[in-house]
Amino acid sequence: MNNTKYHPETLSVRAGSEMTEYGENSEALFLNSSFRFESAAQAAARFGGTEPGNIYSRFTNPTVTMFQNKLAALEGAEQCVATSSGMSAILACVMGLCSAGDHVVASRSIFGTSVQLFGNIMKRWGLEVTFVSLTDPAEWQAAVSANTKLFFVETPSNPLTEVCDIQVLADIAHKAGAHLVVDNCFCTPAIQRPLELGADIIIHSATKYIDGQGRCLGGAVLGSKVLMEPVYGFLRTAGVTMSAFNAWVFLKGLETLHIRMEAHAKNALALATWLEAQPQVARVHYPGLKSHPQHALAMRQQASGGGIVTFEVKAKSDQTAQQAAWALIDATQLISITANLGDAKSTITHPASTTHSRVTAEARAAAGITDGLVRIAVGLEHVEDLKADLALLAQ
Ligand SMILES: *Cc1c(COP(=O)(O)O)cnc(C)c1O
Repeated sequence: MNNTKYHPETLSVRAGSEMTEYGENSEALFLNSSFRFESAAQAAARFGGTEPGNIYSRFTNPTVTMFQNKLAALEGAEQCVATSSGMSAILACVMGLCSAGDHVVASRSIFGTSVQLFGNIMKRWGLEVTFVSLTDPAEWQAAVSANTKLFFVETPSNPLTEVCDIQVLADIAHKAGAHLVVDNCFCTPAIQRPLELGADIIIHSATKYIDGQGRCLGGAVLGSKVLMEPVYGFLRTAGVTMSAFNAWVFLKGLETLHIRMEAHAKNALALATWLEAQPQVARVHYPGLKSHPQHALAMRQQASGGGIVTFEVKAKSDQTAQQAAWALIDATQLISITANLGDAKSTITHPASTTHSRVTAEARAAAGITDGLVRIAVGLEHVEDLKADLALLAQ
């Protein structure tokens, strides 16, 4: 299929699909660990790389390949390497492209587990890591040194939905001989295409919106063939491979990506607008709101504000901030109390005591993750039912 000829919605439905001899109209699920060769010579040729083809599902699998090709088409990337989770996508990216003694500059406002991976585990293995403010390019510039290999950001960030100028950070990274990595989990290519904005590498947690219905764990790293070669090399050796079953689920998820992301964003904007008007809400963080500090930039980079809304609950005089946030969460009956996001079901979470609880209190404060902060990943229910579920905020 000629991917340049079609609109993104069409690529979501059609790109990457390959039929077997049976002519099935839905992608086949290849649940086999290894592939048979016609002869010893063919086996040798496959292993030697002189003949293309599958060998073993830790390396490649036709269902996983279809998923990789579909996501690559959507992000406008030369190559996609599918992984077992979003975290293993980040791991494969760093292990493929960095060595002990190299330096990574990362935004302070990233997923709590990503902070752990960079600031704790990778540091133990000799990676130098500097955390800086997502929104202050001067800090990125100042952090650069001769051994800087990667810049790592999420935009919008989790949980505060801060937005950085991808082109500005890409320019700083490139002048330093480094690559800009964007975790595009919150937007998906339906809303933002970081490679077109100057980034070099995209990370996905497919677990979130790519699945869209909270079923499977998976991830992906995307970029040029040259950059993806060592990432794939790490994956096939270390085995952080995406399962074929999960790839098959994600293939189905991607078919509806555009209409789902539009519906998530429409609901999120309506809910964020309502939240801003509630007496018990101190502040709402949502890139689609005019009150968002980088609203204009977000609307330039993104097709919409996306589906994640974060807000600060006001504590009553007899409450701590955490008690106020927990009371709101415990009063919900419809919205699921869970840390996952990107599900058709709306989810609510208290970042300070869950996703970011392993981050030190000082680091949380520096990243603006207060005890009164609540994050909602707005799902596909009717927005009036979501407002009714948060009625405590209107009192
Ligand atoms: C969930 C998440 C990850 C990690 O993905 P897993 O699939 O849970 O491993 C990474 N980045 C962001 C922004 C996330 O929300």
